[in-house]
Amino acid sequence: MTTALTSDTALRFLKGVGPRRAEKLAADGLHTVEDLLYVFPFRYEDRRSFARVADLVVDGPETTLDVRVASSRVIPTRRPGFTLFEAHLRDATGQVRAVWYNQPYLERLFVEGRRAVIFGRPTEDRYERGLLLENPDYELLDDDDAEGIHTGRIVPVYRKLAELSSRVQRTLMHRALSSLAPGSLPEPVPVEIARRRKLPDRLEALRRTHFPPVDARLDELQDRRTEAQRSLAFEEIFLLQLALVLRRHAVRSEERGIAYELTDALRTRLGGLLPFKLTGAQQRVLREIGDDLRSSHSMNRLLQGDVGSGKTIVALLTLLVAVENGYQGALMAPTEILAEQHFRNIERLLADKGADYRVAILTGSSRAADRRRVLEGLASGEIQLIVGTHALFEPGVEFRRLGLVVVDEQHRFGVLQRAALVAKGPRPDLLVMTATPIPRSLALTLYGDLDLSIIDELPPGRVPIRTVVRREKQRAKVYSGVEQEVVKGRQVYVVVPLVEETAKSDLKAATSLAEQLRTEVFPALRVGLVHGRMKGAEKDAVMQSFAAGEVQILVATTVIEVGVDVPNATVMVVEHAERFGLSQLHQLRGRVGRGSERSFCVLMVGEGGAGTQAFDRLRVMEETSDGFKIAEKDLQLRGPGVVFGTQQHGLTDLQFLEVILGDPRLLDAARTEAQGLAAEPGGRERAREILESLRPAWKQRLELARIG
Ligand code: ADP
Ligand code: MG
Repeated sequence: MTTALTSDTALRFLKGVGPRRAEKLAADGLHTVEDLLYVFPFRYEDRRSFARVADLVVDGPETTLDVRVASSRVIPTRRPGFTLFEAHLRDATGQVRAVWYNQPYLERLFVEGRRAVIFGRPTEDRYERGLLLENPDYELLDDDDAEGIHTGRIVPVYRKLAELSSRVQRTLMHRALSSLAPGSLPEPVPVEIARRRKLPDRLEALRRTHFPPVDARLDELQDRRTEAQRSLAFEEIFLLQLALVLRRHAVRSEERGIAYELTDALRTRLGGLLPFKLTGAQQRVLREIGDDLRSSHSMNRLLQGDVGSGKTIVALLTLLVAVENGYQGALMAPTEILAEQHFRNIERLLADKGADYRVAILTGSSRAADRRRVLEGLASGEIQLIVGTHALFEPGVEFRRLGLVVVDEQHRFGVLQRAALVAKGPRPDLLVMTATPIPRSLALTLYGDLDLSIIDELPPGRVPIRTVVRREKQRAKVYSGVEQEVVKGRQVYVVVPLVEETAKSDLKAATSLAEQLRTEVFPALRVGLVHGRMKGAEKDAVMQSFAAGEVQILVATTVIEVGVDVPNATVMVVEHAERFGLSQLHQLRGRVGRGSERSFCVLMVGEGGAGTQAFDRLRVMEETSDGFKIAEKDLQLRGPGVVFGTQQHGLTDLQFLEVILGDPRLLDAARTEAQGLAAEPGGRERAREILESLRPAWKQRLELARIG
């Protein structure tokens, strides 16, 4: 008799999971049976149709065989601790040998005459005539066994989890699924919605997702498009949307915002600060923001615009509306370099127009005396506009009257930092700016509680950047091109990938490349180096001498990725470009082409990565300068988790993100149902109950997602 499980039975009570395995699973965040059921196969293998032994060919495809054990034995070996088990397997057409390493216990299972289903790739047998299967997957069957788990069907394959093999995971999963009584899984999607959307019950959907029925289609399974998988995707996105609807409602009703005055006189005054004519897109976006500012609801807006589309001036004008209304404004940048740069630009712009706002800067490396003065100024209200890094929102920083916060380059910020920041005022308005072009479906998924404004137009007169992909053997030519530009008075970035900021070997690569350029390649030129592990002041010193034109060639890690503005830099050489994502290359490339001179971006493909695939992928960069197109391509090639760093949004665990992205209708359906439910009488109460009843792992990620 199998013990009846429920969805919240602790995993250690599942047969086959001892205390030790339970501990390992817990370390991976899996505590209950339900947690386990939501670890989905990352691929499937078609082991449905049996081949005949006679048809096997050396190095042929992976094959499923239905055989009987002809003989078996453990073969003695001279290597200590190493065992070899062999079995001769036979069907009506012939015989094949199989060996397994270090699994002597198989002797007890592969008893002569026993029926087995075997899955593996045949190779040439060097010891006997015929074919060999090395460590094939197997399943021993009793003659009346109808259904196997590991073979003879479409089989789920799992990523390694808690040191469990895919085979063990499969066994545990099957056991969990078959010991759950029908109806023992709570159904978070209300019945009327499930019925309307024709969703199978959850247990059934999970069963069919892990162990697909025989008539399932492999391609649909791989793409997660089967009815069962789509219903699980619906469930996931429905719950997320439900959380977002509640969040949005809370923001609208409970947190009364500031209704700023935005008179024609003020508009004219701010318009007078402009150093250029705004693009149509900038004007439209400013109107959308203006409506938010005048209304008594808080602003929660995501401003999206490609690199160089002119988001900064929009941010400044927005902040000044708050300032003119007697509030304080804060502009938060992801790095000190960027904060400095924003601060200098704002000061310069205001000084040029003779506007005297009281602006200050605060970063982690502000000196103690400066810091004290700034803190006083913020507390007293003396400072009207503050630019800084996340240091702005650390404990101990008090604002007199914070009204509006702009967060630049949001993808660099953790969700929790944004939450801390909004907690600083009674309820400051929030404008989040990003240059990462997020497809609409993803924006809705990630930021369903934010309104979206898009700058989809670049300022006039931009000279497009010419991008080329080059191989190692063309390096000398690339260097002579670099030299020519420097001789003309231009400056150059050489970007070196850094897998992690802490990876020592990468750092060494950057350092030694700088050294080589300085001493061997360009001995007559001034070469600088900047990387993420330098101290703030050190980094700033290098950046400043680059900005001042003293350093001509700057070797840099991706610390320069966002926002750095040196218009005289016209060439960027990216080393090992194949290691970067396309969107990241696009961001990087945006550091050149900021002046009126023609700019170049050279993507070097390293020796190792010079495969045609890497090369072709990079070709996209030669062909288009449209950040959206590039992001979509990236999305296709690498998936949303990698492209948008969804782990920062707390959405790593969104199992069906790709399904959702690929199927806007499913997303729409889930949104419609979530909104419909919340709009019913008592609906929000019900929504809250549904979310409350979810298992902790769900709650956690919905919690993160709703902070936005
Ligand atoms: P991003 O959106 O990448 O933050 P920035 O705000 O830094 O872009 O703008 C890029 C450059 O374009 C800056 O030098 C800025 O002064 C300039 N710029 C922005 N808007 C306009 C405009 N409407 N006309 C001309 N130049 C503009
Ligand atoms: Mg910017």
